[in-house]
Amino acid sequence: MSSISNLSLAERDKKVIWHPYTQMKDALPHIPIVKGEGVYVFDENGKRYIDAVSSWWVNIHGHSHPYIAKKVTEQLTTLEHVIFAGFTHEPAVLLAERLLPLLPGKQERVFYTDNGSTAVEVALKMCLQYWDNLGNPKTKILAFKNAYHGDTFGAMSVSGRSIFTDAFNSLLFDVEFIELPNEENISDLVKYISSLQNTSCFIFEPLILGSGGMLMYEAKYLDQLILACQKNDILTIADEVMTGFGRTGTYFACEQLHHKPDIFCLSKGLTGGTMPLGVTTCTVDIFNAFLSDDKLKTLYHGHSFTANPIACVAALASLDLLLENTTLENIQRISARHALFLKQIEGHKKVKSVRQTGTIIAIEWNTEQGTSYLSNHRNQLYAYFLERGIILRPLGNIIYILAPYVIKDTDLDYIYDTIKAALEEI
Ligand SMILES: *Cc1c(COP(=O)(O)O)cnc(C)c1O
Repeated sequence: MSSISNLSLAERDKKVIWHPYTQMKDALPHIPIVKGEGVYVFDENGKRYIDAVSSWWVNIHGHSHPYIAKKVTEQLTTLEHVIFAGFTHEPAVLLAERLLPLLPGKQERVFYTDNGSTAVEVALKMCLQYWDNLGNPKTKILAFKNAYHGDTFGAMSVSGRSIFTDAFNSLLFDVEFIELPNEENISDLVKYISSLQNTSCFIFEPLILGSGGMLMYEAKYLDQLILACQKNDILTIADEVMTGFGRTGTYFACEQLHHKPDIFCLSKGLTGGTMPLGVTTCTVDIFNAFLSDDKLKTLYHGHSFTANPIACVAALASLDLLLENTTLENIQRISARHALFLKQIEGHKKVKSVRQTGTIIAIEWNTEQGTSYLSNHRNQLYAYFLERGIILRPLGNIIYILAPYVIKDTDLDYIYDTIKAALEEI
């Protein structure tokens, strides 16, 4: 590799790069990663890190997976990309054919984009225009208070107001926010939803609110909310960008529901973490509302890289791996081991709460500083694990494990032991 100067990569980075979710003024030097293999990534000095957050939740089968790499390489020399209006290709069609029957309920059309936020934007547009096309325009949207649906403006608007949105709050459109459902508030929430008017859709992260702090809630309550929406002609959007592809113990979180949403948003694990790709799927009823001789009823949305064939092939390869028995066994193994670990640290004086859904476990630290995403405690925890070769990025005072399914028991044990040590030392 040619170096343009005798500066280190981290120093060159500092001169030209603006990193995501990072205060660049006092950011620690960014660690140059030169290789990924299985659950590990390696820095330029050969130090090995366990990627316990799946590189922002995208990786499910491990890094540089040879099977996905082979499929992607073949596609690269066959067809790298083609405009997706007026043209189509086998990887996009095959992926839709394979994905739709796997989704809970009856999903019948796939709309491709290239990330989770855009998958959400499309879902919102589908719902708003659906009612408009039917001659019954409805402009309100319902969402959870601590939700996170992405960083573009529509996605930000339906996300909870937080430090992430603070600079833009005055420009975000109004949304009706509700609390997460529980035994105490469920009947009030159902009543509230039944009383809503002019509401086009309810968007939610099923079972776990990820960026909001790995907040978990029960399927039976979500079922009641969806039912209340259905009775009041409110479309439902499951944002499974994070929960999809096995994270919650089932292939999709909504498999754990009786009442199925009208729309799904998928990204992150979709390509096994190899390529950027987003998917919004819908029922045939929604699709049909856009069929018309009136050109204004068209869904005028698309991205340059819509349905990129390389990304679609990566997703097909990732699906092959996901559907193997060994992957399901790994998902069950990780879930079972997390449950044991939970029992071990539950009640520890520094553990305010520990919760688990499937392959995701979250531990909320008891701190005087509270739950701020910006707390020093967070930086201390992050550094502690990094030093010990584990990538765990806390959300404020909440650390969570969300690892690729190929993680071995020995690596899980090492993470558990390091968390236990941190509970004594920090
Ligand atoms: C990450 C995430 C998004 C946004 O996806 P990007 O690809 O980062 O734009 C949307 N919804 C949920 C639930 C997410 O976790």
